[in-house]
Amino acid sequence: MNFDYRPGLDKIKPYSIEEKEWDIKLDANESPHNLPPLVRERVMNQFEYMAFNRYPDIGTRELRTLIAESFNMNIQNVQLGNGSSEIIMNLCQLFGGPGRSIVFPTPSFSMYSVYAQSSDSEPVAVTLNEDYSVPREKFLEAAEKSNAKLIILCNPNNPTGTVMPTEDIEYIVSRATCPVLVDEAYFEFYGESAVGLMEKYDNLIIARTFSKAYGLAAARVGYVLAHADVISMLGRVIKPYHINSLSLVTAEILYQMRDEFMPGLEQIIAERKRLAMALESISGIKVYPSEANFILIKTAKSKELAAYLSEKNIGIRDFSAAPGLINCIRFTVGTPLENDGLLKSIVTFMKEGI
Ligand SMILES: *Cc1c(COP(=O)(O)O)cnc(C)c1O
Repeated sequence: MNFDYRPGLDKIKPYSIEEKEWDIKLDANESPHNLPPLVRERVMNQFEYMAFNRYPDIGTRELRTLIAESFNMNIQNVQLGNGSSEIIMNLCQLFGGPGRSIVFPTPSFSMYSVYAQSSDSEPVAVTLNEDYSVPREKFLEAAEKSNAKLIILCNPNNPTGTVMPTEDIEYIVSRATCPVLVDEAYFEFYGESAVGLMEKYDNLIIARTFSKAYGLAAARVGYVLAHADVISMLGRVIKPYHINSLSLVTAEILYQMRDEFMPGLEQIIAERKRLAMALESISGIKVYPSEANFILIKTAKSKELAAYLSEKNIGIRDFSAAPGLINCIRFTVGTPLENDGLLKSIVTFMKEGI
């Protein structure tokens, strides 16, 4: 039959990645470490007692309480998502809609545009400066001109790794006439958060995830901190039981044991510095300063380099043809061994000009 789909879907570019069994997988900003052994043991043990026949706790009270307590907030200020992606989508459904716009940066996380469009909102992309710093005035102007109902910021920004000062976030939040969502998916690799501003501004929303620093990408759990009114309204767009019991239990244990992740986190940050320094010493490569668990580089031979790395079975994210990211490649910081493998291949390629 001639399927008559909802208008606008033709304009949405679905998320796609190259799925391959890479020898060195540095394409998805995942943690190179599986769960710490102690955490893993507790999780497996809990699965033994799980009531698989029962629906999950619909209020997800346990994990929300744990998160709220760690921020000195109330459970009414916390909501979970099936990955922070789901919660970002839910926020677009909550504030967007026909005739209403959602403002977000570009280049940044490609899903902001998809969620804006799939909620029938008008997507308004604000182009970052040449060095990927955030033009704060341009965000406010774009929001005002387009009748924005939500502004999204990403700090540190994916895929550039660059950050915006908290002062600039406050500048936007304090002047915006709509909520401002700060996506802090990579916060743990940076250490600075806008969460402290929430006391002062009730239009500030913060999103975090367990997928990156906590290496829980498989379980799909993220959360959002917001004014109690926003969290309450989110209940109208969230599916019941959107987080399964296995993921909930895993995230609960993980959050209680989050100190166990510190050594792994410190290693990634140290490796990021080492990788960046090594790459900077290679002529023909520009390295963007990163506060995340990945590094963006720019080189004239990016397409050839991406092909070479693929041939060496090293998975990276090739942005060389993406708007605002011409000649750029992003790779995740892996284990020291993986990073050595990546570096060796890049050095060989740049020297021999293959
Ligand atoms: C990875 C990522 C997310 C979310 O990941 P989830 O696995 O859905 O929690 C959100 N924002 C940005 C910028 C990301 O890079």
